[in-house]
Amino acid sequence: MKILFMATEIYPFVKTGGLGDVAGALPQALAKEGADIRLFLPGYPEILQNISKPKIIRKLSPFFGRDDAVLLKAKLPDGMTTYVLDCPGFYDRKSPYCTNDGKDWKDNHLRFAAFCRAAADLYLYDSEWQPDVIHGNDWQCGLMPVYLNLRGHDRPASVMTIHNIAYQGLFPASVLSDLNLPDTVFTHEGVEFYGKIGFLKAGLAYADAITTVSPTYAIEIQGNELGCGLDGLLRKRSQQLTGILNGIDEEVWNPYTDENIVANYDSNALKSKAKNKKALLKELNLTENKKQPVFGVISRLVQQKGLDLLVQAMPELLKIGASFVILGSGDKILENQFLKLATDWPSQVSVTIGYDEKLAHRIMAGVDAVIIPSRFEPCGLVQMYGLAYGTLPVVRRTGGLADTVIDEPEAGTGFVFDEPTAAALETALLRTCSLFQSAPLWKVRQENAMAKNFNWSSSAQKYLNLYNSLK
Ligand code: ADP
Repeated sequence: MKILFMATEIYPFVKTGGLGDVAGALPQALAKEGADIRLFLPGYPEILQNISKPKIIRKLSPFFGRDDAVLLKAKLPDGMTTYVLDCPGFYDRKSPYCTNDGKDWKDNHLRFAAFCRAAADLYLYDSEWQPDVIHGNDWQCGLMPVYLNLRGHDRPASVMTIHNIAYQGLFPASVLSDLNLPDTVFTHEGVEFYGKIGFLKAGLAYADAITTVSPTYAIEIQGNELGCGLDGLLRKRSQQLTGILNGIDEEVWNPYTDENIVANYDSNALKSKAKNKKALLKELNLTENKKQPVFGVISRLVQQKGLDLLVQAMPELLKIGASFVILGSGDKILENQFLKLATDWPSQVSVTIGYDEKLAHRIMAGVDAVIIPSRFEPCGLVQMYGLAYGTLPVVRRTGGLADTVIDEPEAGTGFVFDEPTAAALETALLRTCSLFQSAPLWKVRQENAMAKNFNWSSSAQKYLNLYNSLK
């Protein structure tokens, strides 16, 4: 079974969110399960600097208006074979999707259509290796199944994974011919989405199979509230849609081996977790209050994540002595609200605006609980890191959060609340505080959490079964 796995970000080279983590781990897990898998990546500078033995497979010019496109085959540092679409005019940029001030690159439709076309046509270019299945991720890969379908029957099968249905890649209908697509695909059943071209919509309409990253999200996106306009199409294609939970990369997120933290630990040595807490509080100039927990947030600061609810809930928690360590960036209003709380409560609130992978590890090991109050959450990785680190997640019951965190007296692994309101979050945080005051009960929940196993191998097996069903 030969699989071509397309990704527009990949940890540790280029990452803006969970997709980067998935692309950095799932292909390796699939290889361990016996799949003959190769990656397909855009030629961002960080990718070109890290590949070895690049070999030209095909010069592609003219290609979507450019004459500098070359398809390379190379090795990643971990030994995995990758194809790279090297096209400096498209990919030699500081950030994969948008400018420094957060505006989408104006030619994103061309950048990612080219990426899809090159992947779809790989089976025509590389005489040594042709994929049986091409697996695309998110809207950036949405045109891959369209180009494949236009090639006719004797072609690889396609899988599209939805990591977040809220990002759809919508472009004006006028660019259709720039994408090398015929007018015949601009239909309700095809690439058209309310008068525009929808890259994700196109992928979901043409893919042979569709997956998303948790069983609950697979159900939620077939509904009006979270389907973002694609729920009708997904209900129609529900037989082709499955939810497969993401795993976590245990080589990166493992408290027993994590090199970023001051003291390694496992569930038999939870005392060492306290050393990480001490070090973190010292580093961030926070005062320790043994009676109340330290809460952490590691997140993009966007509407989806529900952190505006936390801003409202925090004062009551601060009054009783809880502390907060926030790491994130995004929405400026939210950033400023958190910064103001840090100014007002300097010994209890630390806010770091930015993206800092190492600090994220120190926080995960150092805080007692991690808050993820998302309005929706396709899978979510942070709560799974929390479980692995004995850092109890406080989550809203949605998507992958609902699938991974248990809130029960005996088997509990964290705290779950239902309504997306500040009051519901506050109640959950107060419940967390009161359990924290009972050390033995808290320890049981930590041990339950750390006993959960979210490694990639069982998810990889499910993907393999799916690929096999398409062959
Ligand atoms: P999403 O993909 O929606 O952002 P996930 O929970 O699936 O949410 O994945 C987020 C990933 O990004 C996690 O690996 C998390 O640790 C990381 N992350 C988010 N914000 C930051 C930040 N400011 N600094 C470091 N890592 C971050």
